[in-house]
Amino acid sequence: MKPAQPSTSHNPDVIVVGGGIGGLSTAFALSRVGLRVRVLERAKEFGEVGAGIQIAPNCTRILDEYGLLDEAKSLGVLPENMVMRDALDARELTRLDLRDLERHYGFPYMVIHRSDLHGIFLRACRAAGVELLTDRTVVAYEHGDGGARILLQDGGAEEAPLVIAADGLHSVARRQLVGDDVVSSDYVAYRAAVPIDQVRDNGIAEKDVTVYVGPRCHFVQYALRGGDMFNQVAVFESPKALAGKEDWGTPDELDAAFAATCDTVRKGIPLMWRDRWWQMLDRDPIETWVHGRIALLGDAAHPPLQYMAQGAIMAIEDGWVLARHAARHTTDDGVDWDAALAAYEAVRVEHCRRVQTTARAWGELWHLDGEQRLRRNTVMRELDPYGYAFTDWVYGPTALSPDEEPAMFTPIPLASARIGEPDAAAALVPGGQ
Ligand SMILES: Cc1cc2nc3c(=O)[nH]c(=O)nc-3n(C[C@H](O)[C@H](O)[C@H](O)COP(=O)(O)OP(=O)(O)OC[C@H]3O[C@@H](n4cnc5c(N)ncnc54)[C@H](O)[C@@H]3O)c2cc1C
Repeated sequence: MKPAQPSTSHNPDVIVVGGGIGGLSTAFALSRVGLRVRVLERAKEFGEVGAGIQIAPNCTRILDEYGLLDEAKSLGVLPENMVMRDALDARELTRLDLRDLERHYGFPYMVIHRSDLHGIFLRACRAAGVELLTDRTVVAYEHGDGGARILLQDGGAEEAPLVIAADGLHSVARRQLVGDDVVSSDYVAYRAAVPIDQVRDNGIAEKDVTVYVGPRCHFVQYALRGGDMFNQVAVFESPKALAGKEDWGTPDELDAAFAATCDTVRKGIPLMWRDRWWQMLDRDPIETWVHGRIALLGDAAHPPLQYMAQGAIMAIEDGWVLARHAARHTTDDGVDWDAALAAYEAVRVEHCRRVQTTARAWGELWHLDGEQRLRRNTVMRELDPYGYAFTDWVYGPTALSPDEEPAMFTPIPLASARIGEPDAAAALVPGGQ
């Protein structure tokens, strides 16, 4: 057994378990309102997987407030359009003009390397004096008098007036406090970030985020790092998962899943990393994230399927909201954590429930086949590229209280869509162009 880690000198106001994007951004947000924060990360070093991430205006707005947006812009890419295409015939279904979107929301839509975004928060935490400890695996949580305790794998224990569990999808805190299971979608994601020269002949759109949606699969592409790299995400339904096999989503399933897709998608598939893949799991929304002085945050509280590209953003928003309420509920006696946590839970639970459930529905829409696919295409083609009815509820300013939470969009029923003639003709040609 390893010796216990030496305990650190000053007691923190807040312990954050998990040094992912959610944990670090929250630690930074809380340090900005004058709190002493300690982050405990189980890995030997802080880090993130080397693929891309999309961050919408509801995140860049917060980065701007933190004084981190210029650094993010210098490391990321501001794409010109978000374009959705049919993965079989490559025809355009809809687009958003991201320059106009920036004018509408006041902040840009950005894509960035995950390790760059994580690095921005890590440096910001260091500069703000957050105590950053690695190689600390938290194995249990306990309620204490006016606070909470965490127990470490090495036998140590630490306590603080507030413990935030930002320990991700497979959260130990969630298991202990809620006890629910992850939900498998039977879909799996493959990622790759490669030098842009490797894909220039593949028919890519370097200045856009392109999403190819197809039967039981989709494929995402965008440039990273000032346009020097190109990020691809390939997602598909795993036949092995449907058959109940333990080992599912393996590389042998990848090629078959995209065999019938258009040229640009098929050319991208051989570049996907094949030594690592991500089974797409989420959890059902829950109503209670706060247990005494232990609060769930980020994926530990609301892991979504990734179709809305809001998982990390929601975690960043959680930290921003919690810090605002901590500041509002601070008196000479310190933070009234019970009030701050109640305000955090009152607004974030419902917002994140909406994102989680919409992400599931969005995935179903993307992956339609047959007649439903054609109806979807008709509906998508009729969308206004300068209309924001479907994004205002999520890309607008992050609500601090339930009354600030915007109304959701009204879905368009697919049954109302006619199948257009070009679609009907294309449907006769398996695999499209
Ligand atoms: C394919 C794919 C694409 C995605 N694209 C986007 C996107 O475009 N935009 C977006 O916003 N989101 C996206 N997401 C979602 C996003 O990645 C997650 O929602 C986000 O990273 C969650 O952050 P987190 O900090 O809550 O959890 P994590 O990133 O999982 O971090 C948890 C941290 O806690 C640590 N930890 C775990 N257990 C312990 C323990 N017991 N003790 C101590 N430390 C512990 C882990 O080592 C880790 O560092 C995507 C996800 C996938 C899979």
